[in-house]
Amino acid sequence: MNLHTIFFDLDSTLYPESNGMWSNIRQRIDLYMFERLGMPLDEIPDLRHGYFVNYGTTLRGLQAHFGIDQQDYLDFVHDLPLEEYLQPEPQLRQTLLSIPHNRWIFTNSDIDHVERVLNKMQIQDCFDGVIDVWALDPFCKPQREAYQLALEIARAPGPQACVFLDDSISNLTPAHAAGFFTVLVGENGSHPAVDRSIPDIHTLRQGVPELWSQ
Ligand SMILES: [Mg+2]
Repeated sequence: MNLHTIFFDLDSTLYPESNGMWSNIRQRIDLYMFERLGMPLDEIPDLRHGYFVNYGTTLRGLQAHFGIDQQDYLDFVHDLPLEEYLQPEPQLRQTLLSIPHNRWIFTNSDIDHVERVLNKMQIQDCFDGVIDVWALDPFCKPQREAYQLALEIARAPGPQACVFLDDSISNLTPAHAAGFFTVLVGENGSHPAVDRSIPDIHTLRQGVPELWSQ
């Protein structure tokens, strides 16, 4: 592979889903829908799932239906004590820094949350840039336009020169169709859109040695 850029999802990819942070963010999303929008609690999980399926994220669904304020929503749902879930990751930092290609965060989250997470993990200097929900606006993963924007922002020559890591098969599917080399993080099992699967980010070096090819 003649690689140029490696795109990393953030949540449940650079840290494990099992640390509990993402499920607590999901609870904050439910609370937002209950407190700010007055939705009946028992209907919220189905509504949230429907937005996720139809719009890519709950945020985009709520914007389409209620015109909510993006920054207010993002601040609300990410209002968690991150130090309870994340710690410095010196070994991961060394691994990431040793990859001889451009490295970008590519996430449906927002830059404030990204910076807080990277700072808590002390891997903020491992990336050439961040592509967040503001940069992707009005799109988000898994919409095809989001991947095209990511390539343009990272000035990547094309998907064939890129690797994309994400914990979501639905996010990997359009990337694979476009020609990215796709890596599923955190879930075992095969899928036509998954070129490689690793159990967690700490097995990157053994699981995807191609990242170190020149
Ligand atoms: Mg994720």
